[in-house]
Amino acid sequence: MVGFELDEMQQMLRDLARDFALEEVRPNAEHWDQNSEYPSKAINTAHEMGILNLHIPEEYGGPGLGSIEEVLVNEELAWGDPGFATAAYATGLACAPIITGGTHSQKDKYLRMVSEKGALASYAVTEPGAGSDVAACQTQAVKDGDEYVINGSKMWITGAGKADWFFVLAKTDINAGYAGMSGFIVDADTPGLSLGKKENNMGQRCSDTRSLTFEDMRVPAENLCGGSESGGWMNAMKAFDMSRPNIAAHATGLSRAAYEHALRYSGERMTFGKPIHKHQAVQFMLADMKTKIEASRLLTWKSASEFDAGIRNTESAAHAKRFASDTAMEVTTDAVQIFGGYGYSEEYPVARLMRGAKVMQIYEGSSQVQKMIIGREITKDL
Ligand SMILES: Cc1cc2nc3c(=O)[nH]c(=O)nc-3n(C[C@H](O)[C@H](O)[C@H](O)COP(=O)(O)OP(=O)(O)OC[C@H]3O[C@@H](n4cnc5c(N)ncnc54)[C@H](O)[C@@H]3O)c2cc1C
Repeated sequence: MVGFELDEMQQMLRDLARDFALEEVRPNAEHWDQNSEYPSKAINTAHEMGILNLHIPEEYGGPGLGSIEEVLVNEELAWGDPGFATAAYATGLACAPIITGGTHSQKDKYLRMVSEKGALASYAVTEPGAGSDVAACQTQAVKDGDEYVINGSKMWITGAGKADWFFVLAKTDINAGYAGMSGFIVDADTPGLSLGKKENNMGQRCSDTRSLTFEDMRVPAENLCGGSESGGWMNAMKAFDMSRPNIAAHATGLSRAAYEHALRYSGERMTFGKPIHKHQAVQFMLADMKTKIEASRLLTWKSASEFDAGIRNTESAAHAKRFASDTAMEVTTDAVQIFGGYGYSEEYPVARLMRGAKVMQIYEGSSQVQKMIIGREITKDL
C-alpha cells in the first residue's frame, strides 16, 4: 500500500502556510499585482515564520526539511497568490545549486546569509539569446589569477532587483558545449554588475524580473560552484530536480485557488432558473478541473518523495512540472469561463490567476522542454 497521509509535523507546516496565505497574502495580492509592488514585508514575515527555504540543511542554519515539506508549503503560498509564491521562491531556486554543488565554505557563507539573515538571491542562467537552449549562452568567464573576469548578460531573472547574491552560469570554455559551462556565486554589489529595469510582465506582476549585465566583473575563483569548471551545467540541472517539484506545487495551488473561486461562483450565479453548476456543461468543467488538480498534486508528491528518497527524479519532476503548469493554464481559463463576463474583469481574482498561470508553462523549462526531457528519459535505454 502507498500512504498519502501527512504526519503531524507536515500537517502543522501546511496549516501554518495556509493561514499565512489566507491572512497575509490574499488580502494584498490584488494591490501588489495592480501596483507591481514587490511583497518585501510578506516575504520577510514568511522567512521569520520559518516557512521559506526549508531545503537549507541544519548545518547551515536552515530547517533541513525534505522536498515533500517544501511542496506542501509552496502549494499553499501559490494558493494565496502565484506572484507572491514566485517572488518568495526565487531565493530557494538560487540556493539549490549551492546545496547540490557548493563547497562547505560557500554553503556556510551564502546559505547561512539566507537562513539566518533573510538574504535574497536569484538564479541567473537565461540570456537574451539563450533560454531553452542553455548551451547557446554567450556569457564568458576568463580566469585571471585568483579571479574570474565575467562579461555578458542575463535576461528574465526573478528577484534580480532585490537579490543579495546571484548564482550565474557562464562559459569558461566557449568550444566545449555543456562541459564548458561553469557556475559562480556573485555578490550583488560586485563592481561591473548592473541591473536592467523591472520588466512589465503579463502576470505575477509583484515579482521582480530584470536583465543583468556583466562588464569586466571580477569574481573570486573560490566562488566557482559545482565542483569544477566543467561541472556548472550538470549542477545547475541537478538543481532543477530539486526545484521543479516546487514549481509544480505552485501550479497546483494556483489551480486549486481558481477552481475554488469558480465552484463557489457556480453556486451563486443563476441562469435559466438554476445555479450554473446544475448545467451539466458547467459541472463537467468543474469535474475536469478537480481531476486535473488531484493528478497534479499526486505527480508533484511523487517527484518530491523520489527526491527525498534519493531516487533520480528527473523524469517524474518533468511530468509534474509540465502537467501541473499546463493544468494551471487550463483550469484558470475555465475558471474565467465559468465567471462569464465578470471573469474578464480585474474586479474578480480569476483574471489575475489566469494571467499568472501562463508563465508557469514557460519558466524553469517550458512545457515543450519538459516533453523533451521526458522523451529523452524514456528512450535513453533503447
Ligand atoms: C517571468 C519570468 C521569470 C523568469 N525567471 C527566470 C530566472 O529566475 N532565472 C533564469 O535563468 N531564467 C528565468 N526565466 C527565463 C525562462 O526560464 C525562459 O524564458 C525559458 O526557459 C524559455 O526560454 P526563452 O524565453 O528564451 O524561449 P525560447 O527558448 O526562445 O523558446 C521559445 C518557444 O520555443 C519553444 N522551444 C524552444 N526550443 C524548442 C525545442 N527544441 N522543441 C520544441 N519547442 C521548443 C519553447 O518551449 C517556447 O515555447 C524567466 C522567464 C520569465 C518570463
